[in-house]
Amino acid sequence: MKRIIFILLAIALPFAQGYSADKAPKTEKVKNVILVIGDGMGLAAASSWMIDNHYAPTSFDRAQFVGISKTYSANSRVTDSAASGTAMACGVKTKNSMLGMGPDSTAVPSLAVLAKQKGLATGIVVTSHVCDATPSAFYGHVPNRGMSTQIINDMLAARLDIVVGGGRKYFTDPEKVPENMIDKAVREGFTYAATPEDFYATTKTPIIGLFADGSYPMAIERDTDFLMDATMHTLDILDDNKKGFFAMIEGSHIDHAEHANNAEQLTFEMEEFDKLLNAVFDYADTHKGTLVVVTADHETGGVTLLPGSKDFTKGDTGIDVKFSTTGHSGSPVPIYAYGASAWKFGQVMENIDIFSRIKALLIDK
Ligand SMILES: [Zn+2]
Repeated sequence: MKRIIFILLAIALPFAQGYSADKAPKTEKVKNVILVIGDGMGLAAASSWMIDNHYAPTSFDRAQFVGISKTYSANSRVTDSAASGTAMACGVKTKNSMLGMGPDSTAVPSLAVLAKQKGLATGIVVTSHVCDATPSAFYGHVPNRGMSTQIINDMLAARLDIVVGGGRKYFTDPEKVPENMIDKAVREGFTYAATPEDFYATTKTPIIGLFADGSYPMAIERDTDFLMDATMHTLDILDDNKKGFFAMIEGSHIDHAEHANNAEQLTFEMEEFDKLLNAVFDYADTHKGTLVVVTADHETGGVTLLPGSKDFTKGDTGIDVKFSTTGHSGSPVPIYAYGASAWKFGQVMENIDIFSRIKALLIDK
């Protein structure tokens, strides 16, 4: 009898608590979109963080609608970050390593650029460098992701309100650039922030922040919540625009930890990403009309969550995070959506549908 009561309680509990989807604002008009990309974050990476937390509620449990994104590119079943970034940013499946253009090299505008044309505020925050594939898909138009100088020129031309991350060397290396591109940006009216503290102390847009020579340090190497802090300052600036905003935030090092097959680095990255998500979900709770879409550009590492022992008669033997590749995999990736019209993302879709749905809600409305 005792056992039956336990089972009944266990089943009844989720109903008693209510599902998050029931609380989602279904008809609220979308004013702000925060697209959060966990680079390389497949379902197993997100789940590893839930297991690390012993299934206590994480930000992933707060998602109101969950979907699946098919990430293949125009020329490969396994995409790179350039093609998948372009798919989500610009709505076209292109070839691996191409940015901001279709497979025929025709340039296509990104959600950030379209939002800016509509008079909305725009911001990009990454832990990688700002010439890396995911952020560059929102301002660059190059046939090869390595063309950093052209990407910087495209970035300056796009004049988004905020672009912050690492990447100083790409702007200043005399072997790469014809002139110091930071000086050029300042000459063109950008505020330059050399440290996160510089950035937190300014609100004068457009802002370019370059906080490291290459990528910003990984979460395991520092004791700040950089991604959350930089994001919240960005939202604070962007929401001064009464028309609304588009922001793209990337937890870039999830991918790097997985390329390195380093489970400890991955845990630290997921911890930082979880803090970021809770902060932006809280933001959506208090800022009407805010939609948060969290997804990945592709899966990296072929992450699997193996039991500590193959002998299932032992009960819980813990989880061993294993990798099957140092590259990307063809696994589809999860979408976690929260806030205004989040239900539009609770489906199986192509990665380009993320672009078209955000465009329909934020720009074409
Ligand atoms: Zn990668």
